[in-house]
Amino acid sequence: MENKHYAIAIDGPAAAGKSTIAKRVAQALGFTYVDTGAMYRAFTNAVIKKGLDPHDEQQAVTLIPGMEIDLLEDGRVICNGEDVTKVIREPLISGNVSYIAAMKPVRLALVDMQRAIATKHSVVMDGRDIGTYVLPNADVKIFQTASVETRAIRRYEENMQKGIPTSLEDVKADLRKRDYIDSHRDFAPLKPAVDSILIDTSFFSIDQAVDAVLQAVKKKLGGLPTC
Ligand code: C5P
Repeated sequence: MENKHYAIAIDGPAAAGKSTIAKRVAQALGFTYVDTGAMYRAFTNAVIKKGLDPHDEQQAVTLIPGMEIDLLEDGRVICNGEDVTKVIREPLISGNVSYIAAMKPVRLALVDMQRAIATKHSVVMDGRDIGTYVLPNADVKIFQTASVETRAIRRYEENMQKGIPTSLEDVKADLRKRDYIDSHRDFAPLKPAVDSILIDTSFFSIDQAVDAVLQAVKKKLGGLPTC
C-alpha cells in the first residue's frame, strides 16, 4: 500500500516568519519544504529580466509556457536553469511580485506545480492561499501572523544579513503594500482558512514558534506524523 502524503499549510502576511518556521517544521518531520512565495518571486524576476511590464497581464502570461521553477532541497531556487536564489529577494522583486501574483493565469500555472509536489511528497508548504485554495484538504492549516512592526524589523535585519540595502521605513511600506494587494485580489486572496489555527508570533522566538506549530500538528493529528 502506498504511504499517505501529509500536507501542512502555513499561510500568513509578508515576513511573518513563515519560511523560517516552515523550514524547521519540515526538518523536524522529515517533510519537503515548499516556499511558494519563491515561485511567484522567480516568475516576477523572469518577467522583469525579459523587459516585460509586471503590471501587464497580457505580457506576463507569455512566459507561462515552458516556465520551469525548481525548489532544491538546499534552498536554491532555479528558474529555467538559472540560479535566482539571491536576486528574487531584491527590493525590485519584492516591490512587484504582488502584481504578478494577482494574475489568475500565473497563479493557476504555479498552483499546478505546487499541487504536483504535494502529490509526490509529504510537505510543509507556505504561502498565502495554501489552506484556502492550493491544498484545501491539508491535514493541518496554520495562519501565522505578527504585528507589522515586528515583521518589518525581522525583514530589515534579514536584509542586512543578506547584504540587501534597505531602510526600515521602506521595508514597512513594502510589507503594508503587499499585504493590501495580496488580501484584496479577486482570485485566491490572502485570508485565514476557516479551519486554520491562528499563531501570532509577535512575541515568540523562532524556537517557540516552531514548537507552537508542532504542538498544533500533534493536537490535530493525535501525534507527530512520520513519512
Ligand atoms: O512569501 P513571500 O513574501 O516571499 O511571497 C512573495 C509574494 O508572493 C507575496 O507578497 C504574494 O504576493 C505572493 N504569493 C502569493 N501566494 C502564495 C505565495 C506568495 O500570492 N501562495
